[in-house]
Amino acid sequence: MKINTKKPVIFCDFDGTITEHDVIQMIMAEFAPPQWKSIVSEILDARTLSIKDGIVKLFDLIPSALEPKITEFVLREVKLRKGFDEFMAYCKQNEIPFLVVSGGVDFFIRPVLAKYKNQIEIFSNLASFDAESITLSMPYLPKDCPDCNECACCKQEVMKTYSSSDYFRISIGDSLTDLGASKLADLAFARARLLDYTKAENIPVQPFDNFDDVQHHLERLMYDSAITA
Ligand code: MG
Repeated sequence: MKINTKKPVIFCDFDGTITEHDVIQMIMAEFAPPQWKSIVSEILDARTLSIKDGIVKLFDLIPSALEPKITEFVLREVKLRKGFDEFMAYCKQNEIPFLVVSGGVDFFIRPVLAKYKNQIEIFSNLASFDAESITLSMPYLPKDCPDCNECACCKQEVMKTYSSSDYFRISIGDSLTDLGASKLADLAFARARLLDYTKAENIPVQPFDNFDDVQHHLERLMYDSAITA
């Protein structure tokens, strides 16, 4: 299946996009001391703390010994956004590659998406539980991202591995870590805070509430592309 001769590929955020709520903030609310809130506000509201420094500070608040409890909590409490399961079936049927590109951490993303593990690729930060508190490593730090250089997982650099001449790049996101991806995408789906961030920079986006909306929009696009081809 193609859009204007290009193959579609999806770069999808995890926290607050695939999931109904931001899982990092759910974990912090349950397991971290209260100062996590001011750290999140420095990252997202004041934007005085970079995303990469902020997430390290956040997980440093949590003892490594809590790992099993956190995994149990995540599997019990995290809800996927409406339409996600059907949308994954749609992507599979149409052979659309689905990449989860997240500023979150592997240890809570993988259990939640275990059902889809053969269909997705995950790009995220990694956790280690060897020290007193949870430490992070970042295999996808920006190398020379001209846009901000502040993300822990540079979504633009992951996207650039799919050339714009061959691929129709679709991003789906909800917050600040998705701003760079929205700028680079051929089609950017946005909800929540990402609508404000993209509006402030005049980046065109397609608003969405759930994955039914995303699927309907793509179906229409494929149909239009097929009849004009
Ligand atoms: Mg998010």
